[in-house]
Amino acid sequence: MKILVINSGSSSLKYQLIDMQTESVLAKGVCERIGIANSNFVYKAKGHTLERQIDMPDHKVAVKLVLDTLTDKNIGVIASMDEIDGVGHRVVASGEAFKKPTLVTPEAMELMEEIKDLAPLHNPAAIVGVNACLAQMPHTPMVLVFDTGFHFTMPDYAYMYAVDYSHYEKYKIRRYGAHGTSHKFVAEEAAKYLGKDIEELKIITCHLGNGSSITAVKGGKCIDTSMGFTPLAGVPMGTRSGDIDFAAAEYIARKENMDISEMLTYLNKKCGMLGVSGVSSDFRDLTAAADSGNDRARLALDMFAYGVKKYIGAYAAVLNGVDAIVFTAGIGENDERIRSASLKDLDYLGIKLDADKNANYARGTIAELQTDDSAVKILVIPTNEELVIARETVKEAKLA
Ligand code: ADP
Repeated sequence: MKILVINSGSSSLKYQLIDMQTESVLAKGVCERIGIANSNFVYKAKGHTLERQIDMPDHKVAVKLVLDTLTDKNIGVIASMDEIDGVGHRVVASGEAFKKPTLVTPEAMELMEEIKDLAPLHNPAAIVGVNACLAQMPHTPMVLVFDTGFHFTMPDYAYMYAVDYSHYEKYKIRRYGAHGTSHKFVAEEAAKYLGKDIEELKIITCHLGNGSSITAVKGGKCIDTSMGFTPLAGVPMGTRSGDIDFAAAEYIARKENMDISEMLTYLNKKCGMLGVSGVSSDFRDLTAAADSGNDRARLALDMFAYGVKKYIGAYAAVLNGVDAIVFTAGIGENDERIRSASLKDLDYLGIKLDADKNANYARGTIAELQTDDSAVKILVIPTNEELVIARETVKEAKLA
């Protein structure tokens, strides 16, 4: 069985074709700059890498190009589109309209239209992506898989904001979280790796990438997560402020003559590591700058690690103990210094990182990095959000 996973952005479309028997990637790539001059198409399969500037005026043309390439006689990996058993679409925001992966139907797409403004940059793109695929594959089952889905098990006192309750009722203002497919994947992989029943485990998963979020997972279910109504909340990130006193934001807006929408762009795109350091949002650049004496780069990195540590402490309290801490995503998998700094001085919680194992972690593998006398396991697990989307597609479309 083969599942196509689609992740549509406003001007991009990432895709992976996954063989579900082996859970391996048959082909993957990205269409970039859709609807903009110099569109770019990337395709990787069977040792072939194709990168070409091809005009892609809209997502429909992009999807057709993906399908034509997947079925190409020379570089394709399937003989015809009929070999694609289902399509899984990543969707950023669900509101309370969708609490689990959902089959694409006219009714589901109407609901998607209704919640478009919850993620105005991302959700409209997902709708465009679904419609583009439906135009090419009208009879193939498709499933919407939401970044927020894993977090619906949070108790009400964890997801509610202390605002006028009628605003929750009217607008569904609450914590939704993000990166749900990643947190779910690494928590389940951790249980498998440790040879334990996930029902018995208390895990803190740290997805640290361009966007970062931390989740408390008890018995395989999310009970709290650091992102909020949108991905703006939680630890400071590449370009996002993370948690901030709203009154401070209002004060900056007043002084700098920004309206609310400009303020939101500022908090999402110009703050975080980039804003504090003035150097970059990329941790490789920040580390290089800090090492050559840039004190604001040092400060940004310290703030990030401190933010991660505070959430680990909070979630150890929320979980009443912790069996394993898992690091994943670009920073979690690659940045040994951030792993080390965010776990510093947590030995009173039984969390002890082995410096050598941390420094010698082999990228792309699952490894444990704690000392022999650490009560808590410290794992690095490469994430695989596409595989979760593909598995959910099989389940929801009842393809298995
Ligand atoms: P996204 O949220 O876009 O999926 P990723 O999970 O790919 O992001 O993470 C990207 C970030 O990971 C980069 O911005 C960079 O800060 C960090 N990163 C990637 N490789 C390394 C590395 N070798 N060392 C330190 N940080 C890295």
